[in-house]
Amino acid sequence: MKIDVIGDIHGCFDEFRNLTIKLGYKWRSGLPRHPDGRKLGFVGDLTDRGPLSLKTVSVIASLHKEKDAYYTPGNHCNKLYRYFLGNNVKILHGLETTTAELSALTEKERHVYKTLFIDLYENSPLYHVLDDGNLIIAHAGIKEEFIGKYNKRVKTFVLYGDITGEMNEDGTPVRKDWAKEYKGKPWIIYGHTPVMKPRMMNKTVNIDTGAVFGGSLTAFRYPEIELISVPSTLAFSEEQFRTFPQ
Ligand code: MN
Repeated sequence: MKIDVIGDIHGCFDEFRNLTIKLGYKWRSGLPRHPDGRKLGFVGDLTDRGPLSLKTVSVIASLHKEKDAYYTPGNHCNKLYRYFLGNNVKILHGLETTTAELSALTEKERHVYKTLFIDLYENSPLYHVLDDGNLIIAHAGIKEEFIGKYNKRVKTFVLYGDITGEMNEDGTPVRKDWAKEYKGKPWIIYGHTPVMKPRMMNKTVNIDTGAVFGGSLTAFRYPEIELISVPSTLAFSEEQFRTFPQ
């Protein structure tokens, strides 16, 4: 299979469009199609903080419906899903931009987006295992021993990363460096933690290059093993990026 996996979009629809064009996709009837039949993959976090969350959802949900996209949810997607179900979620950490977009719509339009998103979310796996197990797409990554498992512990890891319950001084959870210990054969493509440049380590690649924080939006091309990025149009916010010791 030939696939281009795209990092955390967070409502950066223009960057998403620019990236697909750079990857050779042609937009027809509002959807990106590749002349060679390549597919798009998504590590999740389609919405929140960026300017065009709903447009992003609508394009990816439509592609997914036509079996032209491999989407897997991120923590922001999980929260939006719980919001749409009517659960009591806090409108924080970027969700406020997505709910503001929804508030500007009519009841009928809101219902359309709600249905699209719920359908996308409920018909997507926690993580994708593709190409006979050689390629995995998981929002915050996955440990080798978790591959093929779908229990609560695995779900927490895939959505939130390698967290221990410890907190940093700024109140954010401590995220451990699972990629450094990874010794598996499959490629693991993930996002979740913004980095200035894609981070490739032991057949894992973090492609969240912080589009919504003024970095770039990145795609991982498989089986070519190439990284393609486009710059963000948004203001750069350095403190949002994480650096890793080599
Ligand atoms: Mn994210």
